[in-house]
Amino acid sequence: MNEAKAVAGTLSKIMTLADGTWRLQIDLHEKPPFDLLEVHQELAISRLHIPTDGTGVQNGPYSGMARELYRTGFFNRPAIWAAIGTTLNEGDPEKAFRQRLSEEKCWLKDSRCEGDVVCAHVSLTETTTRGERVGAHGTATKARFSAVPLCDWHHRKQHEKGYKHFDTLDSWRKARLQYVSDWAADALKAWLGFDHWYNCPPGDLAAWAAEQGPDIFGMLPTVIRQEFS
Ligand SMILES: [Zn+2]
Repeated sequence: MNEAKAVAGTLSKIMTLADGTWRLQIDLHEKPPFDLLEVHQELAISRLHIPTDGTGVQNGPYSGMARELYRTGFFNRPAIWAAIGTTLNEGDPEKAFRQRLSEEKCWLKDSRCEGDVVCAHVSLTETTTRGERVGAHGTATKARFSAVPLCDWHHRKQHEKGYKHFDTLDSWRKARLQYVSDWAADALKAWLGFDHWYNCPPGDLAAWAAEQGPDIFGMLPTVIRQEFS
């Protein structure tokens, strides 16, 4: 198969070596495809999300923090999704995410949409073009928080014809990341009691993160960590 493949990750460190080389440290969100990656391999990197000010982060008393949260990809991390999901429902951390997706419109929305919107699993590790089924792999092996909203008709076709019948697997994965990071940002700010991140005092967020443990606290933007550690 000579299709282009990509993996999602979070840039956690940028270093400059003595000889002027930039060295990046990237934490991958899923097990990397070792058949594609090896030392000395030539790579291309690109942003998954272009930061926007469309969220209105410049409009409130804490707009600087809001911008930093988005700029640093705070809501793009699986550990953050798990911490938020656990805060909302300890027994079923993905419940609120599934609920949110079921209230969205079909991601593939077109004239063929039919039936209720369901939470359609998106595979992060397989590139099979046909025959993938939600129930085919046990729940334990499924990537968590990995779904997009699909209407009943598109969901059925996804299983009959495979992902690529509609779009590239890369597009499915980007859509999934967008849905889960949007959910994470909205769910946490609602739980903290705010309508917008630019209205949420950084101390409130820092207190929540500290409660989740040092790993989560360490993922906060540096400006917040320095002020509240
Ligand atoms: Zn549809």
